[in-house]
Amino acid sequence: MQLSEIGETGLLAELERRGLVLGIENDAAELAGGLVVTQDALVEGVHFRLDWTSWRDLGYKAAAVNLSDLAASGAQPEALLVTLAVPGATLLADVVQLYEGLSEPGVPIRGGDVASAPRATLSVTAVGRSKRVPGRSGARPGDALVVTGPLGGSAAGYLALAEAIATPLRDAHRRPPLRLREGQLLASTAHALMDLSDGLVSDAERIAARSGCKLVIELERVPIVDGVKEVAERVGRDVWDLVCGFGEDYELLAAVGDAPFPTIGWCEAGAGVELRLQGEHHEVSRWRHFGDA
Ligand SMILES: [Mg+2]
Repeated sequence: MQLSEIGETGLLAELERRGLVLGIENDAAELAGGLVVTQDALVEGVHFRLDWTSWRDLGYKAAAVNLSDLAASGAQPEALLVTLAVPGATLLADVVQLYEGLSEPGVPIRGGDVASAPRATLSVTAVGRSKRVPGRSGARPGDALVVTGPLGGSAAGYLALAEAIATPLRDAHRRPPLRLREGQLLASTAHALMDLSDGLVSDAERIAARSGCKLVIELERVPIVDGVKEVAERVGRDVWDLVCGFGEDYELLAAVGDAPFPTIGWCEAGAGVELRLQGEHHEVSRWRHFGDA
């Protein structure tokens, strides 16, 4: 069996079945004393291209995607640990730019490692503390589904980079939002909370599966980043593919009784995720950039 056949989800399920990893269903590991830890690796050619991103933006994004998992845990960040592996010919000035980007969110870098490698790989660990981690398993019929901000910007930005379309949305792909305050607010009452890294449909499916209920999303209520419709038209795709099927929005999705954020749907008895557009069932295509990222 090769990893490409089972994917990340299949690998983790297999390791969990063997008792080799524990409690990995949430965005971050919750340890004793409210300690929350998360880690993400970015590999050149898989997760980023140095001709599409500056070193500074790469650093910012690496910090932001980890802080997004802390936000999804309702955590206050305390530190980042950074491991960087790059070719020896890499310029010092570029690495300084990378660390300036990593420092931009204002969370101190307290350690890590540097190694030599044939292509750039960046791994960031974020550590924080949370009073309450809602996780993904507590959504129940009657909950409202809310998101903390508009979606589709990263998908449109990625397509704009790929198709050489000039639009400010390129930055939406390179510089995801930070929703730490919103995460702490939602975590105090949400029954389920996660960040949107893999696309609204795929991520909502995780809450549905872990919570044992059905999530219904009314697409006309989903907030969309300005300019996404125009990019979708330019590339001949359904705008809802960009909004729901791509990912990397890094907004938060919560199942909650009530919260001061846009409501996009609800939970009910059943299983899976249903998208509706003008009351009709709607399907979206899902895709990942760089094939297997
Ligand atoms: Mg996450």
